[in-house]
Amino acid sequence: MFTQNSMPSPGTMGDGSLQPNPKRTKMKVPKQDIVRRLRKKAMKSSCRTKVAAIGFSSHGEPLACEFNRPRFSKHGGGIHAEMAVMNNAPANLSLIVLVSVTKTGKLRRIRPCSACARKAMELGVRIVSMG
Ligand SMILES: [Zn+2]
Repeated sequence: MFTQNSMPSPGTMGDGSLQPNPKRTKMKVPKQDIVRRLRKKAMKSSCRTKVAAIGFSSHGEPLACEFNRPRFSKHGGGIHAEMAVMNNAPANLSLIVLVSVTKTGKLRRIRPCSACARKAMELGVRIVSMG
């Protein structure tokens, strides 16, 4: 597995304060923009339940947007969108917005599974949903 733990953290040039404070993460993009991105991303999923997740830095900047992918060999397996965000986002990932999207493009609140929730806890990442 590839981890980015050894990579130097970018963005220390500014005020230099990299305070991890996940509870106060404010998203810097308007909500309708996030909704639009999540909806568009979820539509790329070939899973029956289409899920999208978008990760934000502690400064509220969007980092990575992912959708869920099926795993053909194992029923109920696959890569969850929130797991893909945690795997692909840089180390300053702080908040994930996780939703499922219906066929008509409606957002639904969902919770991460226990495996994703555990990983998020280890990383100090908060997962929220909206719908
Ligand atoms: Zn999961």
